[in-house]
Amino acid sequence: DQEQPRKPAWIRVKAPTSEGYRKTRDILKENRLVTVCEEAGCPNVGECWSQGHATMMIMGEICTRGCSFCNVATGRPDALDPFEPGRVAHAVQKLGLAHVVVTSVDRDDLEDGGAEHFAQTIRAIRHRSPGTTIEVLTPDFLKCGPEALEKVVEARPDVFNHNLETVPSLYPSVRPGARYFHSLRLLQRVKELDPTMFTKSGLMVGLGETAQEVRQVMDDMRSADVDFLTIGQYLQPTPKHHRVVRFVTPEEFAAYEKAAYGKGFLMVSATPLTRSSYHAGEDFARLRAA
Ligand code: SF4
Ligand code: SF4
Repeated sequence: DQEQPRKPAWIRVKAPTSEGYRKTRDILKENRLVTVCEEAGCPNVGECWSQGHATMMIMGEICTRGCSFCNVATGRPDALDPFEPGRVAHAVQKLGLAHVVVTSVDRDDLEDGGAEHFAQTIRAIRHRSPGTTIEVLTPDFLKCGPEALEKVVEARPDVFNHNLETVPSLYPSVRPGARYFHSLRLLQRVKELDPTMFTKSGLMVGLGETAQEVRQVMDDMRSADVDFLTIGQYLQPTPKHHRVVRFVTPEEFAAYEKAAYGKGFLMVSATPLTRSSYHAGEDFARLRAA
């Protein structure tokens, strides 16, 4: 049965109209930057951009992978733009961001998976905005040697995020081309390389996973010393993408959040509209102040 369940009332999306939204949009446009907010058709774009929060996507708009939940185009990517790290840093400064999230497409075509480009972007932001905390949301560097990950960690982002996205049993249909245990090990390796760095990961739910599987992933993450967790409802970007199997209720999200804190995560966000980068800045600032 391929029928989609109806969108419940708790998935509401406000039309973006505010002055802050327009300012963020203009600065991003002037600097020719790509954002996940737009690429993924994120439901929070009105809220986030009004407050000057955006997730920058570096290394182009074409990905070498084709995950069934993701709206980014698959194909042969363009060459890296050596000026991009500078443009990102400029935009971060102009937006006056307290916290920035930088992510990328997968670049299996590059020997280092784009690790050096990530590192340069982190350094460029630090240089221009030393007070801004930096969160990277990286690909899995599956086809690279260990030095790729090391390069990114050595550039010292404040938060290292890599999403497991779903439970292992759904990897073949949701995240083909990725390996669950490779991604888990990557998170663990970050902590081994720099125990002072916060690590973070996230899941989408509503793809057909069971609650027990989600709880098992939480245990796996904690055994890899992952600090922060995000869980949000999967929304189908177009009818060609993986279908929404069900809408997880706000009560179930609340139960996930409670369970996750019980397992020792330092920071958890689990709501229908949670995204990997949703409220990342405020949550991190709160944690640091505590
Ligand atoms: Fe962008 Fe993340 Fe906010 Fe969505 S939640 S609009 S991806 S910053
Ligand atoms: Fe989308 Fe990332 Fe998968 Fe590429 S690797 S298709 S950007 S989720």
